[in-house]
Amino acid sequence: TDSGNNLYRVVLIGEAGVGKSTLTSIFAGLQNNLENWDILGEDTYERTITVDGEGATLIVMDTWDNKGEDNWTQDHCMLIGDAYLIVYSITDRASFEKASELRIQLRRTRQAEDIPIILVGNKCDLVRCREVSVAEGRSCAVVFDCKFIETSAAVQHNVQELFEGIVRQVRLRRDSK
Ligand code: GDP
Ligand code: MG
Repeated sequence: TDSGNNLYRVVLIGEAGVGKSTLTSIFAGLQNNLENWDILGEDTYERTITVDGEGATLIVMDTWDNKGEDNWTQDHCMLIGDAYLIVYSITDRASFEKASELRIQLRRTRQAEDIPIILVGNKCDLVRCREVSVAEGRSCAVVFDCKFIETSAAVQHNVQELFEGIVRQVRLRRDSK
């Protein structure tokens, strides 16, 4: 996509069940509006937000778990994003380990590029079921060379901040060119 137009394609990746669709729906403003879900059946949403006084249009793609549609394979998802949210659930260590695999896969697929990534520990409302500590998430992000945030789609904690954060990451790279 043309970053000169402040149009950014943001792709959510991560194990099924970690909350990608719920995070996306909150950002897209689809909560409590089930009709829109049906109309926009493609799992791709567009919204313009203002971050630090500058507009940005995000095309948010929640297509990772789509099965059976050949043109939306996971390989394709790895290629088309301007930025990525690698999501795991803090209540599911396997999803955290999967996040590492995805980071490696993304690095391999987009070798020459410095792609903005945020590692997202979702479901942080479920404190009593926590399997991955904040410190582990943070140090994993250091190894990944990316940003880190914990969110809760359920109580809408840090969701707006997450999407603003990815815009800032894209801009940092744009402005340093
Ligand atoms: P996806 O497979 O990654 O798209 O995950 P979904 O968005 O479909 O979420 C899977 C399940 O986790 C659903 O039952 C959601 O309601 C629930 N869920 C998603 N985010 C959160 C969260 O932040 N906290 C809690 N407690 N549940 C969540
Ligand atoms: Mg989903």
